[in-house]
Amino acid sequence: MSIRSLLCLLVLLGWMSPGFAQDFVPGEVIVKLKDRDSGKANFMSKSSASMTLKKSYPVLRTHKMALKSGADVMATVDALNNDPDVEYAEPNYYLRKSSTEQAQGRVDYESAQAAFYEVQSMSGSSFNQSSANIQAEQAWDLLSGGATPPVIAVIDTGVDYNHDVFQDSGAMWVNPGEVPGNGIDDDNNGYIDDIHGWNFVANSNSPIDDDDHGTHVAGIILGSTQNILASPIGSAQIRIMALKFLDDQGIGTTTDAIEAIHYAINNGAKVLNNSWGGGGYSQALRDAIVSSNNNDLVFIAAAGNQASNNDSYATYPANYDIPNVFSVAATNDYDYLASFSNYGKSTVHIASPGVSIYSTLAGNSMGYLSGTSMAAPFVAGLAAMMVHEESSIDGFQVKTIIEDTANRVLSLQNRVASESRINMYNAVNVAATGQALNYQPGSNIDPSREIASEVQGGGCAAILPLIKDIIGGPKGPSGPANYLRFLGLLLVLLSPVMILLTMRNASKEREAQGGGQNRRRYDRFKVDTQVQIFFGSQQLCGAVSCISLGGVRIDTHDSLHDGDQISMKIQGPDEDSYIEASGEIVWSKDQESYGVKFNEIDDMNKVQISEWTKVLEKD
Ligand code: CA
Repeated sequence: MSIRSLLCLLVLLGWMSPGFAQDFVPGEVIVKLKDRDSGKANFMSKSSASMTLKKSYPVLRTHKMALKSGADVMATVDALNNDPDVEYAEPNYYLRKSSTEQAQGRVDYESAQAAFYEVQSMSGSSFNQSSANIQAEQAWDLLSGGATPPVIAVIDTGVDYNHDVFQDSGAMWVNPGEVPGNGIDDDNNGYIDDIHGWNFVANSNSPIDDDDHGTHVAGIILGSTQNILASPIGSAQIRIMALKFLDDQGIGTTTDAIEAIHYAINNGAKVLNNSWGGGGYSQALRDAIVSSNNNDLVFIAAAGNQASNNDSYATYPANYDIPNVFSVAATNDYDYLASFSNYGKSTVHIASPGVSIYSTLAGNSMGYLSGTSMAAPFVAGLAAMMVHEESSIDGFQVKTIIEDTANRVLSLQNRVASESRINMYNAVNVAATGQALNYQPGSNIDPSREIASEVQGGGCAAILPLIKDIIGGPKGPSGPANYLRFLGLLLVLLSPVMILLTMRNASKEREAQGGGQNRRRYDRFKVDTQVQIFFGSQQLCGAVSCISLGGVRIDTHDSLHDGDQISMKIQGPDEDSYIEASGEIVWSKDQESYGVKFNEIDDMNKVQISEWTKVLEKD
């Protein structure tokens, strides 16, 4: 492990916080319980002296608890994480909109339309939001008539759904199961009279925008799919679901974000736009996003506006390594990375225009905003057009196609993974010509399993619990004990290496004795073990379900494509020995699984695999 990755690990574990250290709701904690019924009753009764239940999310086994006044949030979280009824506890982090400033050049919508006609007659362009050549208008020509409009959830400050742009185009989502204003939860989804979405801040059915941010985002999404300054405006081919969880200052909480994500999943959204971020790593938020992945939604996230490297300083939710999470940096009209935009060769996937973007503002007006907040919704609009053409496409396929069809831009080298800025025509064309489902899908992932790349060098889930034991959770207390903890951590991090060296020697001895040759070549065996994958600068973690002398079957998904060359550290079924091998990713459409074909199998690995498979059942 390099010093740099060790430092990253320390930062992520909370010793060297890059900021946001106390950026959580005072007097509140999020608790996920292991058991829905008896465990909950037990937990609530024993904790009643120190905290009270504020809100429950029963499906998630998750509860928002209010602490008695003066209680220390982090100390409570530490204590709860040692409670046998608790799966995990964490602070309720604040989250913030990802735009840089107040809206500029505000004019009313009618004046904007009139001014636009002058521009249009001079330039011949009907696309007015950015002049980077993302080929939006060309993509519109590919949209087929008669398709069901896909629903895009704008998880934000709300949407001015009375704005003429959304009213006249019919772009707002209308809950088909709800009768407006009858005071009854007609569709029994837990929300009364939720017509266009929900306001999680006020807990009301009016997700109207009291900022400008969400309305601006929604206008970019719609404006990616049609000309929003046309008079009269055309019929929308998408639907905007307004989910307000950020208040009039653009600040929200993790629990409200989680509830909004679940609302979107349960009420038919296919694309989630998330132009916000902040706080620390939240297992509860990650679980919600995993659920969106497993339901085939696309989760588009703004990369953030700190001009920092997300590979070194994780920005959430953009940094969650989940197949459907698509992290977007902002570029200007000349395809240079915006001065404020976060970047990351591994963790930021693509760039899209985000400087001085013209779009709708609250109060039936128009104006300019900048931020990765503005870049993300271009990608959301593009994803919506792809879903419009191929409704069964999943989040990972959307991400892969957009990356594969984007325009490579020199200035994005070493800045974003694809080194590219979106091209709407190219990506929609793949979906419109029936090729989208030929792309490998993302896989469902088990929310309980941690992914190695989240801790950048921390290793597989197999060793994570050990790290947690030693440091007392991701936010261990500070003080002189840290030195001992640090030594402990070093030992943990080095232990796979030591195990490996020991294993190597043992294997060599066995090899010298001529053992381990008692299996036929390429018999496959069922196994349930871990693999750590090294791909470029990334480390991923997954499970192995089958092993042979020819390769392994794995469930790891994100960032890996057919034909990629990777190296691996494969854990044995005894959970105590490892092999290292390199190979090529092979995606099997028939089996809907990923495999790694070993490049070559050296004698030492042959001996070790043969040892392992002695106790395994044939596949
Ligand atoms: Ca309802």
